[in-house]
Amino acid sequence: MDLLTKAVRGTQDILPRDSYKRRFVEDIMLKEASLYGFKEIRTPVFEHTELFDRGVGDGTDIVQKEMYTFNDRGGRSLTLKPEGTVSAARAMLEHGLFNDALPIKLTYITPCYRYEKPQAGRYREFYQFGVEMFGAGAPAADAEIICLAKTLFDRLGISNLTLEINSIGCPVCRKNYQAALKKYFYERKDNLCKTCVDRLERNPMRIVDCKNPECQSVAQNAPDIIDFLCDDCRAHFDAVQRYLDNSKIEYKINPKIVRGLDYYTKTVFEFVSQADSQRSLVCGGGGRYDGLIEEIGGPSMPAVGFGVGVERLLLLMESQKVNIPEPKPCDLFIAAIGKEAGFKAFELAKKLRKASVYAELDVAERGLKAQLKYASKINARFCLVLGESELASGQAEVKNMTTGEKFNLGLNDEVFVQDWLKNFAQ
Ligand code: ATP
Ligand code: MG
Repeated sequence: MDLLTKAVRGTQDILPRDSYKRRFVEDIMLKEASLYGFKEIRTPVFEHTELFDRGVGDGTDIVQKEMYTFNDRGGRSLTLKPEGTVSAARAMLEHGLFNDALPIKLTYITPCYRYEKPQAGRYREFYQFGVEMFGAGAPAADAEIICLAKTLFDRLGISNLTLEINSIGCPVCRKNYQAALKKYFYERKDNLCKTCVDRLERNPMRIVDCKNPECQSVAQNAPDIIDFLCDDCRAHFDAVQRYLDNSKIEYKINPKIVRGLDYYTKTVFEFVSQADSQRSLVCGGGGRYDGLIEEIGGPSMPAVGFGVGVERLLLLMESQKVNIPEPKPCDLFIAAIGKEAGFKAFELAKKLRKASVYAELDVAERGLKAQLKYASKINARFCLVLGESELASGQAEVKNMTTGEKFNLGLNDEVFVQDWLKNFAQ
């Protein structure tokens, strides 16, 4: 084959042999979220660039450097969503959802786009599942989100995940912390990577997050935000832990989890795969972001959420050999010899589908042998052959494709579907 072109680097075609696995995962996620009252929201694939590119100076996020941004034909700068949270927040504000009962609970599965170096579990187009809760500032909201995330992993059959939590305080407690951090890192400036030296003044919290091993070893002994929490943030964090303890949700406090952006507040959490010696962030995480809504022009409104990459979940499930049920095979293939039998097969198949039976027939005018070969390729459970004599007698033989057993089935309109459902339905 001389293909005109191929799929864009970093994108994936989800083929039928895999798509059902995603459907399985997505159904479980949306169903679980609905048990907590989260309703699905769908937002456009692209947004005005300023929604994501708000960062000036301190606010520059790594994600903003990875964005797919382009001018449309009208000269507007648009960006393909790099994540789901901000779009959900924008839509919530734009449509005044906050005028309804609070909190507003939204969930979504959305494609995301980031210009990154493609590798296992890292793509340029990937899917994020997310839940966002707006308008609830109490610790119970954080605990609900964590509990939901934990239950999701359990329901998906994923094991060996550690929940790590931390509190990164509020702008009040963070002031003192940042001053202490700056002092600490300035004294060890020579051991930091160039990016982190740049971050020193603007945003020292990002240094704690740096993936460079040398920066990581310097950050190991850096002051922890948790020791700088104000009374309010401390009480909030204690209460979140109490909810988790009471519900027997195991967690570890990891004081090194930080988020470098100003709008993040209080609780942060991550689910980490124990099998992963590099301690990479497997599935995702979440936390509170009480400052975001105001940042994008809304009222002051607390918010907390959780996000997880669907592909990483699937990779993890594969490595843990989680069983995903395969789609049901074809119930009945109706083979036909000759034109008249072809018309009858069409009619019978239509009737079966009306009764929600998965039926197929030949639509390529192939000979009987080729039709039967197709039936066995699609793993049809049963096969029925229609020829002149079957049409004349109104009776046909149904063959169980696994055991070879044969049964008689009346083709008469009244009995055909009923007999099928009674004798052969699974
Ligand atoms: P990483 O540290 O792996 O780059 P991140 O901090 O950029 O992740 P978030 O922005 O928090 O990730 O996105 C939430 C989740 O989305 C991640 O935990 C991960 O599961 C998934 N994710 C992020 N980037 C990608 C990508 N390029 N391809 C596939 N999944 C991704
Ligand atoms: Mg990233």
